[in-house]
Amino acid sequence: MTKIYDFKNNIDSSAIKELSEALKNGKLVVFPTETVYGIGANALDYDAVNKIFKAKGRPTDNPLIVHVSNKEMINNIAKDISNIEQKLIDNFMPGPITIILNKKNNIPSNVTCNLDTVGIRMPENIIARKIIESSGVPIAAPSANISGKPSGTNIQDIKKELDNKVDYIVDGGECEIGLESTVVKVENGIVNILRPGKISPEDIQNLGLSVKLDSHIFNEVKNEEKVQSPGMKHKHYAPNAKAVLVCSDNEERKIEQIKELIKENKDNYKNIFVLGFEEHSKYFNDVNFLSFGTNNDLNLVSKNIFSSLRKLDKQKCDFCIVEGVKKQGIGIAILNRLIRACGYNKIEV
Ligand code: AMP
Ligand code: MG
Repeated sequence: MTKIYDFKNNIDSSAIKELSEALKNGKLVVFPTETVYGIGANALDYDAVNKIFKAKGRPTDNPLIVHVSNKEMINNIAKDISNIEQKLIDNFMPGPITIILNKKNNIPSNVTCNLDTVGIRMPENIIARKIIESSGVPIAAPSANISGKPSGTNIQDIKKELDNKVDYIVDGGECEIGLESTVVKVENGIVNILRPGKISPEDIQNLGLSVKLDSHIFNEVKNEEKVQSPGMKHKHYAPNAKAVLVCSDNEERKIEQIKELIKENKDNYKNIFVLGFEEHSKYFNDVNFLSFGTNNDLNLVSKNIFSSLRKLDKQKCDFCIVEGVKKQGIGIAILNRLIRACGYNKIEV
């Protein structure tokens, strides 16, 4: 049975001790971070890490991110840290970034799926930090969801999906950012963004570093194509419905295209939804409309995106037309998740 702790109003220190003991004893603990919830296990314990893959149904070639609570822990598990990597660590940790570093041998092979590198993240969320610090070991933690589904950002969704699959669930309220960390790997002196997130290319550039977006962020990985991050190959964030993303620099054209798609598909589907900005609901009166936030606040959209995708399933949507957002700042990360949620089914007008 899964034991639930509610830390929304108060972080109970004896419960933190129980959770950290549980982690040290090979148990699974779901905990909040500022990005999304994670399913945590002791990253130094091969068998505990295996339980994560089982609970999620995660493909065994998709490595886990290891969470630490201080810089000393980074040096215990990673080696040969370059000046650029150190600059990223010093400027963005703790925070919503994962840095791929050369791993030391104490990290079991299943954490990194036999890669020589390990993804390291230091969350800022106080509950996450207390749990990691108290356990004293690095914590491997992928997002708290069944593989392929949207990442868990609130406790209702997580309980529904993971109850009785993990030993503990800690409720820390809704995640502040709502999208997973920016994943970066430094290669030939350039910071390559493997997964966009709240820390944007501009944020990295502002440190005086060269940065590029990996070519697979907006493009599907073709069969047998070599990728920098195994997660890029896997189906992710998908609602049950068929979904299509509509993008345009021109708002009017975008709305016209969505109307057109509704007309074309009205007779083929029973329960069509438009997922988009609340300001645009007035244009789509003859179908269901689900708002993911307002046009002038992409941080709010980021927070809502995964729970919105889950709502489509709850409301038995069978065809969803998703509105694209501006490809800038956190918009890059939102678009990356939406394109993948739509199975790369995208119309640009
Ligand atoms: P998740 O924990 O489910 O949010 O996913 C973690 C992401 O980080 C996946 O896309 C992984 O492929 C990626 N990742 C983790 N470790 C590595 C690594 N050593 N090298 C490249 N990508 C990694
Ligand atoms: Mg995930």
